[in-house]
Amino acid sequence: MIKALKNMKAAFSGTMMKITPGMITCEEFDKIIVDYYDDNLSAKQRRTFERHLKICPHCQDYIKAYNESRKLGALSMEEIYNDDLPEDMPEELLQAILETVKEKP
Ligand SMILES: [Zn+2]
Repeated sequence: MIKALKNMKAAFSGTMMKITPGMITCEEFDKIIVDYYDDNLSAKQRRTFERHLKICPHCQDYIKAYNESRKLGALSMEEIYNDDLPEDMPEELLQAILETVKEKP
């Protein structure tokens, strides 16, 4: 999935929009997408981000793929909890893994 995302990014790099005042390019959009989801953008940056998303079909597709990959990431995290642990795993190791998982946002 990550690889697919990278390929998609490469495909999009040729579709940069012309810079107009108050607008961001697809490249800038891509840079702040993580901050957008982590809620690290100012209100102004958020508006700019959303404005670009509204008018740019490429980034609409991109964000869809981005959301899907986030969902997949969450899914595989659940699988770690539910299925993927060998039964004979030492309790200490299990705890260490659970701690590591917890630390991630
Ligand atoms: Zn775009």
